[in-house]
Amino acid sequence: MSTQHFQVIVVGSGFGGSIMAMIAARLGFSVALLERGRHPRFVIGESSTPLANLLLEEIAEEYDLPFVRPLCKWGTWQEKTQHLACGLKRGFTFFHHDLDRPFAPDPDRRRQLLVGASPNDDIADTHWYRPDFDHYLVRQAQELGVTYLDEIQLTGATETTNGMHLAGNQQGESLEFTGEFVIDATGPRGFLHRALGLREKSFAALPPTQALFSHFTQVGPLPDNFRADGQVPPYPVEQAAVHYIFPGGWVWVLKFNNGLTSAGVAATDPVANALDFRSGELAWRKLLKRLPSLAEIFGSAQAAVPFIHQPRIAFQSEVVTGRHWALLPSAAGMIDPLLSTGFPLTLLGVQRVASLLTTHWQRPSLPSALDEYAQITALELETTARLVGALYATMDRFDLFKDLTLLYFAAASFSETARRLGKSHLADSFLLCQHPGFSGQLRQFCETACQPLSADEAERLGQSIRAAIEPFDVAGLTDRSRQSWYPALATDLYRAAPKLNASATEIAAMLHKCGFDSPPAATARLRD
Ligand SMILES: Cc1cc2nc3c(=O)[nH]c(=O)nc-3n(C[C@H](O)[C@H](O)[C@H](O)COP(=O)(O)OP(=O)(O)OC[C@H]3O[C@@H](n4cnc5c(N)ncnc54)[C@H](O)[C@@H]3O)c2cc1C
Repeated sequence: MSTQHFQVIVVGSGFGGSIMAMIAARLGFSVALLERGRHPRFVIGESSTPLANLLLEEIAEEYDLPFVRPLCKWGTWQEKTQHLACGLKRGFTFFHHDLDRPFAPDPDRRRQLLVGASPNDDIADTHWYRPDFDHYLVRQAQELGVTYLDEIQLTGATETTNGMHLAGNQQGESLEFTGEFVIDATGPRGFLHRALGLREKSFAALPPTQALFSHFTQVGPLPDNFRADGQVPPYPVEQAAVHYIFPGGWVWVLKFNNGLTSAGVAATDPVANALDFRSGELAWRKLLKRLPSLAEIFGSAQAAVPFIHQPRIAFQSEVVTGRHWALLPSAAGMIDPLLSTGFPLTLLGVQRVASLLTTHWQRPSLPSALDEYAQITALELETTARLVGALYATMDRFDLFKDLTLLYFAAASFSETARRLGKSHLADSFLLCQHPGFSGQLRQFCETACQPLSADEAERLGQSIRAAIEPFDVAGLTDRSRQSWYPALATDLYRAAPKLNASATEIAAMLHKCGFDSPPAATARLRD
């Protein structure tokens, strides 16, 4: 049996692993990408965000990956990679659904929240149909010279003086690999976590949750009772990541353009156990019975793949790096699908590991750079868990739930805008978790929200949240007259320019570059 040697070995060929392998190849390393399964294959985690797509765009630019570029927005995706299925995502749609009651008309929008992410379809985000998306990326990695081996069962990993030694087999044949550096992109409780016997850590601020999901055909449209009579929403509400929140859990519905819809439920243990998520489709049907308006949408729907039950969604590895290896954020931890944080966290990690390979490869600075990567990865996961934990705690207090989400939307849109302006130093961590003021307030708000609060206290907490996000608000999120509907407006960005130390000219150039053109009259006034 021969041993194959590579400078960099990436394990796991989801989008994270394939992009990482492509970058390493572009940097001139010899690279292997090792996959347990075989593409195309079903995998969950589909909804992208403006920040995720911007990170993808930055990676495509910086590492010369032109075939990744079209995937950064709906318009170019449709123009250049139409053979890959995806869904149109114009924003985040939330409806609060009481159990055992249909969704009642909601003219004052108390039970909804619509946050627009893009002003038109052309530059909109997408839901990635992962069987197509991941398969495409793995093929591109191969084109760039990455050695791709699938259906590999890796059985062990050992650290040596010069790197890592991996053992495994492929179709009964033993294989051995040596790598100077191994990047684990195998997801939660993945390869290195098990092979090196790393310990799992829980997130103190997050309740234990479970998930149940599938892909469906024949999912119906949103019933009329979800529409606000005579009011025009900021984007077509279903062209979005649609969230149905109920006490103790939530359902996601993501429509793809190939006739399939991704849908599933994430819920705390008491809710999941009461519905018996282990029973799969039976539990889904029980849940629909308790959410009558959702039952209408799924009246004729059929599961296209068997239901998958995840008995524990969250995960965190106590150790994230070693001398010759690193876990990508998606292998280091998982919080919850809520707010679609997985992609941006993964891509931030890909960028950081890429910069480690570029700057610190075989230099004395590598160990401290790896430590820094481990620390920021853990901090971002902890901060996300804190916010998501508070959101679970307020699923029965939707006003407060909405206020808490503003922390995410403010941080994400501020970070996106800062990066687009070339000022990423203003927001170089997820949820601004390294910003001393913002992160401290986020922690405090989340802790308070998890307590029982009177209506007055909850209202005061909402006011404090809006005051705290004001210096970062570039999206009109603190404007209460918008009544829970937040369109993506250029005017908000012009107004917020001083918060980013930017001039109106810089904002105009940024908007032009990202295809957010044709400023309306109001915008023109603000530019002058
Ligand atoms: C229910 C659910 C819904 C989610 N929804 C969203 C969402 O809407 N938006 C969002 O941003 N994030 C979401 N996430 C998170 C998202 O799934 C992850 O961030 C994302 O999939 C990470 O991508 P990845 O390529 O790093 O890893 P993965 O997609 O996990 O891919 C891992 C790859 O490694 C392979 N592998 C595993 N073990 C081994 C092994 N031992 N040897 C070799 N190969 C191996 C697997 O076969 C797979 O191909 C969701 C997560 C869950 C659980």
